Amino acid sequence: MSQTMFETVSILGLGLIGSSLAHGLREKRLAGRVIGYDASADVRGRAAGLKLCDEIAETPDAAVADADLVILSMPVGAAGDAASSIAAALKPGAIVTDVGGVKSAVIAKVEAALPEGVAFVPGHPIAGTEHSGPEAGFGSLFEGRWAILTPSERTTDAALEKISALWRALGSDVETMTPEHHDLVLATTSHLPHLIAFNIVGTAADMEEVTRSEVIKFSAGGFRDFTRIAASDPVMWRDIFLNNKEAVLEMLGRFSEDLAALQRMIRWEDGEALQDLFTRTRAIRRGIIEAGQETEAPDFGRRGADAAKSGPKSET
Ligand code: NAP
Repeated sequence: MSQTMFETVSILGLGLIGSSLAHGLREKRLAGRVIGYDASADVRGRAAGLKLCDEIAETPDAAVADADLVILSMPVGAAGDAASSIAAALKPGAIVTDVGGVKSAVIAKVEAALPEGVAFVPGHPIAGTEHSGPEAGFGSLFEGRWAILTPSERTTDAALEKISALWRALGSDVETMTPEHHDLVLATTSHLPHLIAFNIVGTAADMEEVTRSEVIKFSAGGFRDFTRIAASDPVMWRDIFLNNKEAVLEMLGRFSEDLAALQRMIRWEDGEALQDLFTRTRAIRRGIIEAGQETEAPDFGRRGADAAKSGPKSET
């Protein structure tokens, strides 16, 4: 049986992640009151229409004034300015946390803005879909997924324990690691794959003028899967690459070398090396399914909208 963990929680940024947090907190009764705020007046209006929160505030200060917990849930490039805009209004003893896909750069900007007496617990739920906006959220998004916490100078033990407990109550498993390690791991598992998807779909789009109908009509499973990832929010992904530059460039260098090796295998008709690589990659897919991070069910893009919400979640 869940019980209230925070009296007042304020969520700044009511997109996919912010709205999913609002649903999860309210469905599981983890907060006495949930106050939402979004920089966009249009999103605030839509969130109010959806009755996403107990209250939608018109300014960031009004949203956080009573909050015991403030969750920054906007694109990572906006987190530093958002922290500055609420600094004077925060209650002493309040905890601030975030959900951004990049940690080191966000920590530097947010911690520089926060006042004394306010703890910061940097976090990142490894859960998401390619959809954005307040309508896209659902309370079970975090169930069975990992939440990574990356304690920093302003993280107190008590605040870390509370935020870990919150993610567990939302259904996630929690792991802690350094911000630098997080940024390297995510560059490998999320940022580089997204970059590759943006690139492949971009290349096909450039070809479209010649073979427009064929690209869409004959889009085989491989290309279609890339288009799903490449449909992710443009602002969020712009900010991730600009804020995790070092780790992404490091992984891109390795990727380019491995691609050149593949090019050579094809040119020299080295079937054994190709088959060996594809056998190893197939084993990784099996490992992900065995770890419960994906199901084996084929969807071929034919799942209904409801099934898509409760089905396997895409990576972030
Ligand atoms: P989203 O659906 O695009 O929503 C972000 C919302 O934040 C937008 O409505 C945006 O308004 C608003 N916003 C921008 N600046 C703001 C500010 N200063 N104060 C309040 N609201 C502000 O994005 P999302 O997918 O929820 O992502 C939010 C965060 O979660 C990002 O940091 C991302 O790295 C992280 N994350 C995302 C996923 C995923 O799969 N999507 C997974 C894990 C973590 P405007 O449209 O007017 O800019």
